[in-house]
Amino acid sequence: MAKIINGKEVSASVREELKRETAELVEKYGVRPGLAVIIVGDDPASKVYVNNKEKGCAEVGYYSEVYRLPETTTQQELISLVKRLNDDDKIHGILCQLPLPKHLDENAVILAINPEKDVDAFHPVNVGRIMIGDYSFLPCTPAGVMKLIESTGVDISGKECVVIGRSNIVGKPQAMLLLHKNGTVTICHSRTKNLSEVTRRADILVVAIGKADFVTGDMVKDGAIVIDVGMNRRADGKLTGDVDFASVEPKASYITPVPGGVGPMTISMLLRNTMTAAKNTLK
Ligand code: NAP
Repeated sequence: MAKIINGKEVSASVREELKRETAELVEKYGVRPGLAVIIVGDDPASKVYVNNKEKGCAEVGYYSEVYRLPETTTQQELISLVKRLNDDDKIHGILCQLPLPKHLDENAVILAINPEKDVDAFHPVNVGRIMIGDYSFLPCTPAGVMKLIESTGVDISGKECVVIGRSNIVGKPQAMLLLHKNGTVTICHSRTKNLSEVTRRADILVVAIGKADFVTGDMVKDGAIVIDVGMNRRADGKLTGDVDFASVEPKASYITPVPGGVGPMTISMLLRNTMTAAKNTLK
């Protein structure tokens, strides 16, 4: 039977650390970390994420600004706002909630953000820094996964690590972070042949596909650590992961639940990046 990795607890401990660091930064330097979040349009899921980011800032004592822009916002208006925030000293981190409405160019918006304020770590400069292992901003979801693995006390060095999924926001940076910790990393995707053979080699299996209950017990090695990044909505509205918890849990040594595993970590890691950005201005 697996031990359950409690993402809510790990996330709460990160936020406690950040609260302390905020108080110290304000006291010693008069600097309060500031995050600006931009949302364009009415996507319900994005609205929930943005509200949670705003709440997260309040919880750890950050200054925050939220720009809720109408669906009709033009590219030029959005870029001007980003540029203004780039020049605003109260703001250390800028995040534009994706996806954007179709008429807006996401890439152009990411490129407009000053890489020193790019707390999502999506700007090519930060992606490159992650690749070479010399980075201060962590890609939020993969960084949350690393914290959860760290919480088990298991050393990644030398372990067979398999990541299913190669997206720019999860799979690829996840593989890099595991590699930086000296894991032997394999990335799988939709064209991978004999997927089960590969996944059964994994001491650490990270699943980020976006297909409910895709990974089943027969695909997992006895004693593996299984991290489920997936967030899928069932027909009844319930949230479920990419891992079939019922068949995988008896084989794994540690497993993350959905909800309550990776999900709670992502915003905490965004807040961590905002703290890093604020501290970097003191250098
Ligand atoms: P994505 O961009 O859709 O990427 C999915 C990846 O899964 C692709 O690389 C795809 O391969 C691969 N894949 C699809 N079907 C496969 C199959 N049958 N066998 C092997 N690989 C397969 O998704 P994403 O943005 O990385 O997100 C993945 C999941 O994580 C989603 O459920 C998402 O909601 C969740 N997520 C959670 C958080 C969080 O905070 N907890 C954050 C981000 C994402 P190809 O490249 O070959 O198409």
